[in-house]
Amino acid sequence: LSDRLSETFKNLRKKGSLSASDVDGTVREIRRALLEADVSLDVVKDFTGKVRERALGDEVNKALNPAQQVVQIVNDELVAILGGQQRRLEFAKNPPTVIMLAGLQGAGKTTLAGKLAKWLAKEGHTPLLVAADLQRPNAVTQLSVVAEQAGVAVYAPEPGNGVGDPVRVAKDSIVYARTKQYDTVIVDTAGRLGVDAELMKQASNIRNAVSPDEVLFVIDAMIGQDAVATAKAFQDGVDFTGVVLTKLDGDARGGAALSVASVTGRPIIFASTGESLDDFEPFHPDRMASRILDLGDILTLIEQAQAAFDEEEAMAMAEKFSTDSFTLEDFLKQMQQLRNMGSIKKMMGMLPGMGQMKQQLDAFDEREIARTEAIIQSMTLAERRNSKLLNGSRRLRIARGSGSTVTEVNALVNRFEQAAKMMKTVAKGGVPQIPGMGPI
Ligand code: GDP
Ligand code: MG
Repeated sequence: LSDRLSETFKNLRKKGSLSASDVDGTVREIRRALLEADVSLDVVKDFTGKVRERALGDEVNKALNPAQQVVQIVNDELVAILGGQQRRLEFAKNPPTVIMLAGLQGAGKTTLAGKLAKWLAKEGHTPLLVAADLQRPNAVTQLSVVAEQAGVAVYAPEPGNGVGDPVRVAKDSIVYARTKQYDTVIVDTAGRLGVDAELMKQASNIRNAVSPDEVLFVIDAMIGQDAVATAKAFQDGVDFTGVVLTKLDGDARGGAALSVASVTGRPIIFASTGESLDDFEPFHPDRMASRILDLGDILTLIEQAQAAFDEEEAMAMAEKFSTDSFTLEDFLKQMQQLRNMGSIKKMMGMLPGMGQMKQQLDAFDEREIARTEAIIQSMTLAERRNSKLLNGSRRLRIARGSGSTVTEVNALVNRFEQAAKMMKTVAKGGVPQIPGMGPI
């Protein structure tokens, strides 16, 4: 999957400007990648439609670096569907906060109850686990074991009392929590292997009985194409305020995350990543976006490359470009700033699958910067401030002084003059591009 997609992004990155067919080719590969990640077809269509529209629009055309802009758009749109910002758990003004769990059997609700309780306890809360799954014979025992592992209290019907009423248990547990001063109540409920009316009825009755602050829909990330139907059924039957994605430690690429978030409009709040109670974390939309596209940390690296060019400096430079006072000294300063990217290159070598990115950054060869530095430093102050002075004999002297050839000196002066000219135009409209820096 990702090899093809990263190949596509790689080819895109080489381009200065993008044609409609470049965009279509890329969109096609994104569509394929998402379908292979088990994102539902409707969601894929909707998503690629948005990306295509933006990629063909002005925002890309006018960008200094269109290819990078497209990668950014793909990522932005994914993050937006996944809920944008990380969403935190809502706590009740008057404790206890009631959190109800719903989902199919085997989704990981009971395990999640333990994880959530342990995490909440660590955050200073006093959680109570409630066994409102009275469907399976050993469900209560399972929750008690989990509670013990998490080191938290459990509220369960007495064993041997026959089949209890889960709604009653849930309701009583709130009263119990209030008297015993537990500040959060986590209600574990029963699931079925498939969606059915009885399950929904019971879940919605529990919901009505305890008026939860959060209803978390728990879904197995490996569920694949069934994600949409299951999520819709639970939204219609019980409704929920947030989603928890489990078994993200498996092979699933997380396509279910995109489908569920997109179809229900509910945020994913937590991710469950293993059988142990510590395999649990708040959900990060941006990380999931990268996982779905397998972009690795490309975007982080791009951001760092951008940050390497200090913004304030950029403003001062822009001022110079527009007033025609951009000199070879300024040019040198810019080249030196490229050095800051050396550490990025090093980091890149450590990331898997980053080979091609690294090659691209290799284009900003450190030695090239050193050579530029040598040439400019061999110039007199007057020459640095006014490149028009650089006649043949001066260039020869500079070449000798810096251990380079006249051709190299000429190339540098040309590059500087082109940059100065281009910058002057660009400066009127926006932030200048770093001279010599092609598309990443
Ligand atoms: P419930 O029926 O929804 O309550 O699901 P359970 O909590 O009983 O979990 C069903 C199975 O999935 C158990 O064997 C759990 O150990 C396992 N499980 C739950 N969450 C995860 C997870 O994040 N990763 C993995 N690998 N297994 C999980
Ligand atoms: Mg269970």
